[in-house]
Amino acid sequence: MTISTTNEPLEPVAVPAFEDNYIWWLAGGDGRVTVVDPGEAGALLDRLRARSADLAAILVTHHHGDHTGGIEELAEAFPGCEVIAPRDPRIPGVTRPVGEGDRVDTAGRAWTVWAVPGHTRTHIAFLGGGLLLCGDTLFAGGCGRVFDGTFGQLAGSLRRIAALPGTTRVYCAHEYTLDNLGFAAWVEPGNPAIARRRTEVAALRARGLPSVPSTLATERATNPFLRTGEPAVLSAAEAWAGHPLGGADAVFRALREWKDRDYD
Ligand code: ZN
Ligand code: FE
Repeated sequence: MTISTTNEPLEPVAVPAFEDNYIWWLAGGDGRVTVVDPGEAGALLDRLRARSADLAAILVTHHHGDHTGGIEELAEAFPGCEVIAPRDPRIPGVTRPVGEGDRVDTAGRAWTVWAVPGHTRTHIAFLGGGLLLCGDTLFAGGCGRVFDGTFGQLAGSLRRIAALPGTTRVYCAHEYTLDNLGFAAWVEPGNPAIARRRTEVAALRARGLPSVPSTLATERATNPFLRTGEPAVLSAAEAWAGHPLGGADAVFRALREWKDRDYD
């Protein structure tokens, strides 16, 4: 048995919800817990009670129900808990609305809030201690669909994320990785890093293990939505579109529409 001698915060733990959501559970050094995007409350309440733990905060990346459906039940059970979320009236129970550049201290880490619109127009991410909590913006091997944001916004948000250090650990909110990598292999059949990653992720999933987190270095090597500047990605996107594409945003949009219409 290893006894921790530091107050280093632990790595987030995936609490599965619905078909393919992950609610991230972050235990701070003080024994208080922060959760991210609780689409439902049941499994979290069981886990909190089993540990006699206190819920310090709920972090929310965007308003979709599979990320917010458990907020009110959790806040009722833990009235002292902060609900930290984007400024958006569609999110219930928010005690602390945050936006671009705000700082949040919870779970033993200092987080910076980034506005990352595109999947939705008010989507945010939390960046802290080498971790990125990015909801449905960047997925392992893919990215979110465009709902009430725009393609240009999502392309810009992903470009900004892509410039983070390669060691950044990416905690997204869904287990979509194998499906995403199938599309990645359509786009770049000749990319060996994608083939290798498919094998690795398939092995993890066969054992019932999450494929999340990934690292930004892995995403840059295998995720077509971060590879719009690669000649192979450009020519695949142009072949699908049937005409030349001018610039990274146009390539991004063609990839996103290609996956939406013809892949899944
Ligand atoms: Zn969503
Ligand atoms: Fe979602």
